Formats: sequence, C-alpha cells, structure tokens
Amino acid sequence: MKPSPEIYDALEVVARDLYIKALQDIPPDVRAGLSRGLEAEKQQGNQTASGIMLTILDNIRVADEQKTLVCQDTGLPVFKVAVGGKLDMDLWRLKDSLRKGCARATAERPLRPNTVHPLTRKHTGTNTGEGIPVVKLDFVPDSDRIELQMAPKGSGSENMSFLKMLNPSEGIQGIKRFVVQCIFESGARPCPPMIVGIGLGGTSDIAMGLAKEASTFRHLGTHNPDPDVAKLEDELLDLINQTGIGPQGLGGVTTAMAVNIEWAHTHISQNPVAVNIQCWRGERAEAELDAYGNVSWK
Ligand code: SF4
Repeated sequence: MKPSPEIYDALEVVARDLYIKALQDIPPDVRAGLSRGLEAEKQQGNQTASGIMLTILDNIRVADEQKTLVCQDTGLPVFKVAVGGKLDMDLWRLKDSLRKGCARATAERPLRPNTVHPLTRKHTGTNTGEGIPVVKLDFVPDSDRIELQMAPKGSGSENMSFLKMLNPSEGIQGIKRFVVQCIFESGARPCPPMIVGIGLGGTSDIAMGLAKEASTFRHLGTHNPDPDVAKLEDELLDLINQTGIGPQGLGGVTTAMAVNIEWAHTHISQNPVAVNIQCWRGERAEAELDAYGNVSWK
C-alpha cells in the first residue's frame, strides 16, 4: 500500500523527538540494570562503587526533573528502522527525513554538534553529514508500520570498538580471551558499568554491525534465542565482572550490566569476533508509525 504523503514529514518530526528523548530519558531496562548494580555493590560493602552508582542514578533523576541531557556527549545519531513489507515507501525520502530530523533537533533543542570531516575536522554544525545519521534498514513481512529505534552513540564508548579475525581452531576459548582482553584495554574509558555488544560470524563488516546492534539496540535482561549463544552471554558477563574494573573503573563487581551477542553464519575458515561497548547511559529511544504518520511512543 502507498503510505500517506504526510508520512515523510511525520518521520522528520519523530526523528527529531527521538534524538532528544534518547539524550534525556534513560530506558527503563537500563535504569533497572543500574539499580541492580547498586544493590550488588552495596552487598559487597563497596562504598566507592555504591557511591558512584548512586551518583549515576541521581544524574538520571535530575535529567528527568529538569528535562536536561543526561550527559554532555550528544553522540552520532544511529537509527535502526524496520519498514513494514506492505508499505510502498520511498526509502531515499525516508532517510532524508531522518537526516532533516537530526538537524532540527540540533538547531531547535539545541544540541552540541559533533559531526566533523575525518581529515579536516571541519564541523557540519548539524549532527548530520556524509553517511550520518547512520541508518540501518530492515524489513518486516506482513506489516504496514514503521518501527524506529534511535541511539545517539557517544564517543567514549564507541572508541572502544574492536575486531579480530580469529582462527577457527581458537574456538570459544579464543572468543572469551579476546573479549576479556578488550575489556581490560577499555578500562574506565567507556564509563562503566557498560553494556558489552559482541558480533560473531559473518564477514568483518557484518560482525562489527552485529556488535553495534547488540550493544545499542538489545534490551537489558534479554538473551539471544540460540541457547549456545545465550550460555556464552552469561559466561562472559561473569568473566567481565570478575575483572574488578567496576563502576567508572574505580573497582567493584559491576563492570558490565549485560553482555549481548548477535551472530551470523560465517565462512568455514573464518571466525570474526567484534566488540562494541555502550556506556552506562545506554541511550536509546523507540517509536512506531502507521501508514498515516500517526506515532506511538514505546
Ligand atoms: S561514554 Fe557515555 S556516559 Fe561517558 S561521556 Fe561518553 S556518552 Fe557520556
């Protein structure tokens, strides 16, 4: 079906509002994960770690009450968009609407502009530019709706991204060794307690994309449906929390709130493993549009 022509204007407004909401309103699953972290540190009698967790939760409360941003880093805008297969959308216009929405959020809120040319470091001033916002498109059969997830990916955590093409013979032990090495290398820089996203399989670029999806768009408290992968998520979370890095790197049992793994099949002689970290902010906002541009917030 052809969606209403107003849908592209509605997408622009939703993109603007998602960007701002994600920076102000921490998702409920992340709040719950932080509260669990506070309880774990209290049980250990770790006053420094408990104090940091309390400060983080207080930061969120102040942002709620004063409608301020939770952190100064307004990130690079990343969208995951699932388009209903029944909708005859102009995908170029859809992406253009998301780009305009990000520029409007930056001008109207206003937000700190972060987007620069990689060589000249010249600002675009709009939080948009070549390849930005990042838009990951997917399609849902038998649906006439558009599902949007938005994350302003902050730099402290995004800089902690790693890829290794392991030898297949290194197996699960090799994957665990590499992931824990990445966590030690990251230390306090991604603002722990973190959400660790891991991409397994595919090609190198697919693995990185899966790691980003796992760190950014998976809700805390969920497991990968594959039982072997879910078991590895639990084992890695235990290992990471045994490192003692703790909240903000000052020691404790809550280095990570979650380890999320997404995977794809790979080549018989490849074993790509990618790691992408999300900070305690776990910023993410979600909404859904129908074919007439009516919005439901999640
Ligand atoms: S890593 Fe996250 S919490 Fe830390 S400064 Fe960056 S956006 Fe803010």
